[in-house]
Amino acid sequence: MDFASLYPSIIKVRNLSYETVRCPHDECKNNKIPETTHWVCTKRNGITAMLIGSLRDLRVNYYKSLSKNPSFSEEQRQQYTVVSQALKVILNASYGVMGADIFPLYYLPAAEATTATGRYIILETIKKCEEVGIKVLYGDTDSLFLKNPMEEQVQKVIENAKKEHGVDLEVDKEYRYVVLSKRKKNYLGVTKGGNVDVKGLTGKKSHTPPFIRTLFYEVLDILSKVETVEGFENAKKQISNKIAEYAKKVQAKEIPLSELAFNVMISKAPAEYVKTVPQHIRAAKLLESMREIKKGDIISYVKIINKPGVKPVEMARPDEIDSSKYMEFMESTLDQITSSMDLDFDSIVGKPKQMGLDQFFWN
Ligand SMILES: [Zn+2]
Repeated sequence: MDFASLYPSIIKVRNLSYETVRCPHDECKNNKIPETTHWVCTKRNGITAMLIGSLRDLRVNYYKSLSKNPSFSEEQRQQYTVVSQALKVILNASYGVMGADIFPLYYLPAAEATTATGRYIILETIKKCEEVGIKVLYGDTDSLFLKNPMEEQVQKVIENAKKEHGVDLEVDKEYRYVVLSKRKKNYLGVTKGGNVDVKGLTGKKSHTPPFIRTLFYEVLDILSKVETVEGFENAKKQISNKIAEYAKKVQAKEIPLSELAFNVMISKAPAEYVKTVPQHIRAAKLLESMREIKKGDIISYVKIINKPGVKPVEMARPDEIDSSKYMEFMESTLDQITSSMDLDFDSIVGKPKQMGLDQFFWN
């Protein structure tokens, strides 16, 4: 479950603003922000609370519902969606600017009051979940992972959040299973339909070499088929084997050049790059000896051992491929998945643990 725009809601509901947090009135000092020494004004409305609150209400109650109203044309609905999304961007920044000294209404206690209230609300909500018999697996900032809650339990928690804290808690997604790693903000979830969500997914980038993308999707495919806890342990083994198999091929230089290629479009003519020359332009410059290269062309290049480190696919030989660069790229692409499953990439591919600098000198 997620709290819908939590920080803007808190700013609105708790009347947070530079002139209301730690206001000069003695009688307001009882209106404490939990876990802090701050208090909030009870006499006047804060300017950021009014502004952010109004924008939030405008988005949720007006533009969001208009964007879903079937009596409008598709074009009109899209226009309302754009307005709603633009408001969301502004709302999402509303907390951050209160802690940034370039903002005219900057005031650290106001920023601190926002996060403290957020922590308080999520902790209180976790308590409420436990009270109604829901097991909470994980929570971070504005989201909670609940284990197999029943509809009426969920409703109780939602009602409580609205009544006690004035914030909207919503069911975001239903996962068949979730893998939570020891690292913060890192998890993967498989939806009931078999879609795999990985927090901070990087494998989709179009310039990823095809073999890494294939491996990535094969790993997701293994995960999407898991139905039981034992099945997951089995999937871990399959994934390790798959990665090891690809790593072996990379090191033995058995992967075809076309599968190793990074495909990047050039947005300017190669001669226009003066200050810094990106890798695909280095490759394009080598190609210019063979044919004309213009802006909009797709450059396919591979990473090679010798200078300048890259070569167009059509000019490269398999033996000059920089295997270690590809191993690194493989690792960084799969890291989100392997680390959430507590799989160690280095031990999968049979690499010894890295030496620290001091060990290096003493050895
Ligand atoms: Zn006051």
